Amino acid sequence: MLVLILAILIGLIPAAIASSKGHNFFLWWLFGAAIWIVALPCALFLKPDRKTLDAQVLATGDSKKCPHCAELIRREANVCRFCGRDVPAATTAANPYLGSPSYFDPNRPETGDLGQSPP
Ligand SMILES: [Zn+2]
Repeated sequence: MLVLILAILIGLIPAAIASSKGHNFFLWWLFGAAIWIVALPCALFLKPDRKTLDAQVLATGDSKKCPHCAELIRREANVCRFCGRDVPAATTAANPYLGSPSYFDPNRPETGDLGQSPP
């Protein structure tokens, strides 16, 4: 019984390492609990799962993907730090003025003088 509990606890180590590299925590926990001595070096030398890690970073909304080199850059960036090319300005979610319909409503009457009547 003690061996089983120890295996379950010690399986958390390779699971945590693999999870930090974007891999499935539960599968690596099972692997680590079953054959810990094999799972630990495998987890240490495991390559990071770039797709999963990129998706996690993109989900936070702090980054965007460069359309030229596909590297992750800050959402506010106008120039890519990897390839040096210009990237489109921040999307509507980043600019609070673009999200407001009153600023760019084509049916909005033009006042021209900020709504003040002439003296
Ligand atoms: Zn780039």
